[in-house]
Amino acid sequence: MARTKGYDPDPLDVPPIFQRPSKPVEMIRWLITKYMWPQSSLWIVIAAIVFNFATPDLSRFVSLGVDDVALIWLRNIVLMLIVIGGQHWWLHIKRAQGTSYKYEQRWLATNRPSFLFGDQTKDNMFFTLVSGGGIAALYESIMFRLYASESIPQLSSLWAIAAMTFAVFWIESVHFYLNHRLLHVDPLYKWAHALHHRNVNTGPWSGISMHPFEHVFYLSLPFVFLVIPGSPFIATFCLVYLMLSPSPSHSGFDRFVLGPTTVHGGDYFHNLHHRYFEVNYGMLLLPLDKWFGTFHDGSQEAHEQMKDRRRVSAG
Ligand SMILES: [Zn+2]
Ligand SMILES: [Zn+2]
Repeated sequence: MARTKGYDPDPLDVPPIFQRPSKPVEMIRWLITKYMWPQSSLWIVIAAIVFNFATPDLSRFVSLGVDDVALIWLRNIVLMLIVIGGQHWWLHIKRAQGTSYKYEQRWLATNRPSFLFGDQTKDNMFFTLVSGGGIAALYESIMFRLYASESIPQLSSLWAIAAMTFAVFWIESVHFYLNHRLLHVDPLYKWAHALHHRNVNTGPWSGISMHPFEHVFYLSLPFVFLVIPGSPFIATFCLVYLMLSPSPSHSGFDRFVLGPTTVHGGDYFHNLHHRYFEVNYGMLLLPLDKWFGTFHDGSQEAHEQMKDRRRVSAG
């Protein structure tokens, strides 16, 4: 179905360090005030709470059982119902800010046969909670099992764990670009990733509404720490971040209205990927798309360039 034009933010720019001339001081300000605040900081705080108060003790995982995985799966379901469901309720059921800052005027699809149960939200919840939450639980349990048996390298100092936690955002920029780029190659696209792309007009539950095959790749970030030293907290953080951060970014709203103020909400960069498919495969933090010629900043010029590329590849 065609897009119903809504709010269009100003065209995007790459982070200051990647602009020409490069601006390192601006970059630090950008990282603190734009990138870390509020969302990235929130994922770290939520992961710390989840790890300390809602995750079984590591000693339990020395002998990994189905019940341990089930427990983490249940924890993931509750966490996602609160964080993702909360945004869905506030923005799409209560419609607290109407269509202010909404990328599209129309609401999520109901009565559409291409979605499971004929309903976009129910379909998205199913893939998120069952496949997403389940595979994330399995991966976290495997990492815990390996840490419990001291089979993989582990960081010991709190400072090193903190530094590595911040590094996860950059590592994921590369990891996400690679697996997402691969998923756009046929037949992987047709078999797996097309399921996520049925959501052109996205909501919070669309974020990790993916085919299980895509979850296998997308959620594999913690396995980077089979070779790089990490920690059990970092394993939990990776999965909390992967499960939750796509919910505001797919929320459909560029900014969230909170009383008299607004905070950063959706990810316009990824929203353009859902509109046009062949642009913005990565994340804005590390602008691989800029370097590989698939960057769309939302401007008319970028749009013409994209159409030219399409004409060339069609010809
Ligand atoms: Zn997406
Ligand atoms: Zn895609």
